[in-house]
Amino acid sequence: MSKNILVTQSSMPPLDEYVDLIKDIWQSRWLTNMGKFHKEFQAQLKEYFNAENVELFTNGHMALELALQAMNFQRGRTEVITTPFTFASTTHAIVRNNLTPVFCDINSNDYTIDVNKIESLITDRTCAIMPVHVYGNVCNVEEIDRLAKKYDLKVIYDAAHTFGVKYKGVSTANFGDVSCFSFHATKVFHTIEGGAAFFKNENLGRKLYHLKNFGITGPETVDGIGANAKMNEFCAAMGICNLRHVDEEIAKRKIVYDRYIENLSDVDGLKLNKFTNDIKPNYAYFPVVFDEKVFGASRNEIFDRLAENQIKVRKYFYPLTNSFECFHGMFDVSKTPVALHISNRVLTLPLYGELALDDVDRICEIILNCRGK
Ligand SMILES: *Cc1c(COP(=O)(O)O)cnc(C)c1O
Repeated sequence: MSKNILVTQSSMPPLDEYVDLIKDIWQSRWLTNMGKFHKEFQAQLKEYFNAENVELFTNGHMALELALQAMNFQRGRTEVITTPFTFASTTHAIVRNNLTPVFCDINSNDYTIDVNKIESLITDRTCAIMPVHVYGNVCNVEEIDRLAKKYDLKVIYDAAHTFGVKYKGVSTANFGDVSCFSFHATKVFHTIEGGAAFFKNENLGRKLYHLKNFGITGPETVDGIGANAKMNEFCAAMGICNLRHVDEEIAKRKIVYDRYIENLSDVDGLKLNKFTNDIKPNYAYFPVVFDEKVFGASRNEIFDRLAENQIKVRKYFYPLTNSFECFHGMFDVSKTPVALHISNRVLTLPLYGELALDDVDRICEIILNCRGK
């Protein structure tokens, strides 16, 4: 019986490095509430991303949710243009702020928001655009920026997939009004659980800082209705350790990615995710879109066949967020046909630094053996 292979495996720093760092906490007894590691990690992230400002959070979701809350949109401006081809978090962050998601379709090249379809969705109720850099593919940031300026809209990027990604030499932390990252255990870079919001406006930074700590603004003043979303010292210390090794992790992922490309390129009926020259990728995911008629087997058949071989891949993103049970009857999935098409055909294959190339070959062989069966 062969071993289980999951879609990802968390990277771990050398245990000694982590233990060395957290020994300090036994002396200080300072476990959370913006302690030494929180501040140190914050400073290191700014440098790594070459970004002006960052706030740290308990997770990527709270970064998104509080970034929207911090915008204090005018009354009556309640619509946020976004895409349904994403993780639950993006859509939930909008709805949990009592805002209405307006779903724009994605483009079939890189699965990010189709910028040609945004303008027709803008109304006088629109307050923001919330695009997603899906799989680490960078949205058309120039066009989104142009539209935002023209219509006076905020842009909040869900950058959860893009740790380390650069577009024309600029890190994805630097686009829009806010860019939110997830440092969840399953991401390219993690702090066990964690997240961050990068931004330029200092005023917005103060709001984010207060909103992650109950809206407390002074010893005896509570100005806002905040949440509790502070990153604790153990997570910040994990971040400091993992940051030392993340470039190495990305380099290892590239080797795995290249092996997949070698095995699966030029196979009829498979669409792979390739990067354009102006992107420095982080090799976060390896999505494959299966065209059943050409390839001779459906996405679901391949999913099952891999599962029989203890290879647990993900239908990521399936289902679309606009078809979730919790939104039953609220959205019309047929308005995002490209997203629906891709969602019904995509699989993300296992990809992480430690994945053996032999395993990559075996995964590809199982897939290719499904042809025409
Ligand atoms: C992981 C992820 C999130 C949420 O991040 P958490 O840290 O798990 O809260 C949001 N959006 C996308 C696209 C993600 O992949």
